[in-house]
Amino acid sequence: MSLRADVVVLGAGMVGVGVALNLQKRGRDVILLDRRDAGEETSFGNAGLIQREAVIPYTFPREFGTILSYALNNRRDAVYHLSALPRVAPWLYRYWREGAPERIERSAQALAPLMAECVKEHDALIAEAGGAAQRLVYQRGWLRCLRTEKSMRQAIDEARVLDRYDVDYAVLSAAEVRELEPHVSEAVIGAIHFRGSPTSADPGALTKAYAELFARKGGRFLKGDARKLSAQRSGWSVASEKGAVEAREAVVALGPWSDDVFRPLGYRIPLAVKRGYHMHYASKGNATLGHSLHDGEGGFALVPMSRGIRLTTGVEFADRDAPPSPVQLARAEPFARALFPLAERLDEKPWMGRRPCLPDMVPIIGRGGRHKGLWFAFGHAHHGFTLGPVTGRLLAEMMTGETPFTDPSRYAAERFRH
Ligand SMILES: Cc1cc2nc3c(=O)[nH]c(=O)nc-3n(C[C@H](O)[C@H](O)[C@H](O)COP(=O)(O)OP(=O)(O)OC[C@H]3O[C@@H](n4cnc5c(N)ncnc54)[C@H](O)[C@@H]3O)c2cc1C
Repeated sequence: MSLRADVVVLGAGMVGVGVALNLQKRGRDVILLDRRDAGEETSFGNAGLIQREAVIPYTFPREFGTILSYALNNRRDAVYHLSALPRVAPWLYRYWREGAPERIERSAQALAPLMAECVKEHDALIAEAGGAAQRLVYQRGWLRCLRTEKSMRQAIDEARVLDRYDVDYAVLSAAEVRELEPHVSEAVIGAIHFRGSPTSADPGALTKAYAELFARKGGRFLKGDARKLSAQRSGWSVASEKGAVEAREAVVALGPWSDDVFRPLGYRIPLAVKRGYHMHYASKGNATLGHSLHDGEGGFALVPMSRGIRLTTGVEFADRDAPPSPVQLARAEPFARALFPLAERLDEKPWMGRRPCLPDMVPIIGRGGRHKGLWFAFGHAHHGFTLGPVTGRLLAEMMTGETPFTDPSRYAAERFRH
């Protein structure tokens, strides 16, 4: 027996759930399919920031000193697996090329309309999902903490660039940081407070709360393997635990696993991963943390979460499926302890996740050009938790023939020749 739907959405991370909800809202009968429960992969372990301010993409450094320290592989914010270099190098080259000023500007122009709407789209879902979701999000913004005059000046300059994108931030003195966060180290001489960027105390649970909203409104969630997707005369078919799913349209929202499906279909899209880790900590004595802290020099974040204080690391370039090697966590931990009084580790082992990245740090949202009824929503890099709901809105507008709220051509897969 086969199950029929208008659309099958493959992948129930924040992006797939955002797409499913937005299609459902526009009257489509949707099946959401994942091999696990919703929100248990990358959307589970991130830093939970809804980063309204993240308009300027994270690019490959261009200064010689920084490149050299990358080459020496002794940084806290970015490391690489030597054995993976032959495979990763061509992608790194494309990533490096995207660091040219005019290309950064192009990526920023693409990211800006999405970031401008990201909080609004989350807020609408949080309000609709109700109690549990509301308790999972706090609205205090986050602090980029700086330890030197030089990095403070640079951070202020970078923040000023955001003025033209209507980002709400304040430059804080050391005393003002201490007022907000009395237990933060005296070494912090100031911070940029991004006031308009909320945080989730449990990003996996928020993704699940949205998925439950989808189910409450009549959406079907099924377990299945998206790699079994096949093109049929009348649309798409994929095997699920409850039998074959048949749908006129399919959306690939598999985050870092999207290439498992698009590659066999003949698409050559430069998707790579930047891996990252997290660990939870108790705090020492009566120390409390109210805001997420990003250590401007240390390349890590400390985020107050339901489970404890979550330390998330920077970037590891490695094969997606290589065993975890959390050296960055080991490097960041002493700096994190110096920033805030952390006590014991709360997890048995570090969590590892994979940021699904395209060289320009702009996601693909739109048609899979070679097949009728195939759509893509992946490659959200450092900001998929932020962008899941707004991606869902844009893709659903495109799929249902509504006028898209922003020009979708910037997110087209065709920008990479394949
Ligand atoms: C350390 C770290 C910190 C981060 N911090 C932030 C942050 O603060 N803010 C932010 O916005 N972003 C952050 N990110 C990035 C963010 O987590 C990702 O961009 C986002 O979660 C990607 O969502 P997704 O739905 O595309 O992918 P995922 O959440 O990975 O979802 C993909 C889904 O596909 C499913 N799947 C895979 N293969 C198959 C298959 N064959 N069949 C069926 N299902 C399959 C998986 O089970 C999974 O549920 C961070 C990432 C990391 C690693």
